[in-house]
Amino acid sequence: MTRTAVWFQRNLRVTDNAALEWALHRTEQHEGEIILFYLYSALDETPWRRGAASCWWLQQSLTSLKHDLSQRGLALNLIRGSASDIIPRLIEQYNVDAISWQRNYEPHLAHRDQQLAEQLAQRGITLNIANDGLLPDPGQLMTQKGTPYRVFTPFYRQLRKALFDVTDQASTITRADTVVSITLHESLTLATLNLLSPHPWQHKLARHHQPGEQQAHQKLQRFIEERLIDYPIKRDFPAAEATSTLSASLHFGEISAIQILRILQPIIEVGSPSQSSAAEAFLRQLIWREFARYILWHFPSSAQESMDTRFNASFWDFDEQRMQCWQRGETGISIIDAGMRQLWQTGTMQNRVRMLAASYLTKNLAQPWQYGARWFWDTLVDADLANNSMGWQWVAGCGVDAAPYFRIFNPETQAKKYDADGEYQHRWLNDYSQPATLVDLASSRREALQRYQDHIKRNHQ
Ligand SMILES: Cc1cc2nc3c(=O)[nH]c(=O)nc-3n(C[C@H](O)[C@H](O)[C@H](O)COP(=O)(O)OP(=O)(O)OC[C@H]3O[C@@H](n4cnc5c(N)ncnc54)[C@H](O)[C@@H]3O)c2cc1C
Repeated sequence: MTRTAVWFQRNLRVTDNAALEWALHRTEQHEGEIILFYLYSALDETPWRRGAASCWWLQQSLTSLKHDLSQRGLALNLIRGSASDIIPRLIEQYNVDAISWQRNYEPHLAHRDQQLAEQLAQRGITLNIANDGLLPDPGQLMTQKGTPYRVFTPFYRQLRKALFDVTDQASTITRADTVVSITLHESLTLATLNLLSPHPWQHKLARHHQPGEQQAHQKLQRFIEERLIDYPIKRDFPAAEATSTLSASLHFGEISAIQILRILQPIIEVGSPSQSSAAEAFLRQLIWREFARYILWHFPSSAQESMDTRFNASFWDFDEQRMQCWQRGETGISIIDAGMRQLWQTGTMQNRVRMLAASYLTKNLAQPWQYGARWFWDTLVDADLANNSMGWQWVAGCGVDAAPYFRIFNPETQAKKYDADGEYQHRWLNDYSQPATLVDLASSRREALQRYQDHIKRNHQ
């Protein structure tokens, strides 16, 4: 008899889950037993321990996954502890002979998984490491010189060309009655997994989000039916709420990029020209996500250090008071303050406002991008190491394919263009008495340009 374990990580869904399917198939073939588990370890996540908003989403998502699996006769075990301690012990104690999990792209987790995989392989355990990105393998797509891409457009072209080959049939697990699913005696309840911080801040998130696999599919469906057609035009307008809002679901794998691709493919191929180009525009954003994961995989230090090494810590000038005003939405620039308050209230912020808030912090206020990224990391429900590091470095002008340093958004001009009637700003600034501006926009822009120019001259490569 075989015993196959499935380690759920960022694939918190039942359908189209390659790690789960592989294990179910193996178990059915050998009339074996299956152990499904989620392992929470704050230690393993160090130095990127989740923030409270992300933990809240995770807790809801696990509740939903547990329910969805139990509907199919499968038990999800919840365990606390470091993977390198717990997994070898489980394997020994429960005579597990195979384990399946999904590939991680973050350097600290990829390193942990690699070590564990080697250790288990030496003990003769069969391993299946699944992938659910659009790019089957991050080592697969390289420039002609054999180096990783650093520029988005050629990466995009290469991946886009290959895409529709990967859209094989979707799979749905309705019931797994013939499979014996084991409940471990060390399994915890969601409450004792201790994901939620005692701070009441996170409770308000429930007013804005509904995590879970089914909810992610419903959201996608609504987005396709009601918003996709206007996506290319309206996605930049924060009051329009014109985007999919799927980022946290994608991060936790409640839905995968391949599942979305399957839905976009017929629209692109046989939809009207405007439907087709809207679906392409949306797909392009999913490829940005793929690019971020690819960059983090190939350049693991990019979560902490500027890709352009000229912009090391000495370039920025940390100032606690500026940082706090920005975090609290008290900069005196209403579009920035609205965005920062939206973030605090809801754990999310619209993409253009993220760009404006990041540009203002790193350029007008001269603060290190890493500090801004850390605040986003702590407060976003969709906090994602790859997307967040790339987004911040792009705006700060020090990342791969970065916006040039002289592109400094003027938040007031941007607000006039993208929130002309102030609807977005009113929505998030209802209890706002506008503080004096922290810095003058025109002079801080000039100073930033000078700072970048001088630094580049001094560090000419
Ligand atoms: C400074 C900064 C920080 C960011 N931090 C994060 C983060 O921590 N987590 C995160 O998921 N996104 C981050 N983004 C990217 C982007 O803002 C969000 O993905 C987007 O706002 C989520 O809304 P949506 O799901 O409605 O996006 P949609 O417009 O509907 O896009 C669909 C999906 O494509 C992906 N995507 C969209 N834009 C980008 C992008 N620019 N880069 C990479 N992937 C993208 C996301 O997975 C998104 O859910 C950041 C951007 C910036 C400028």
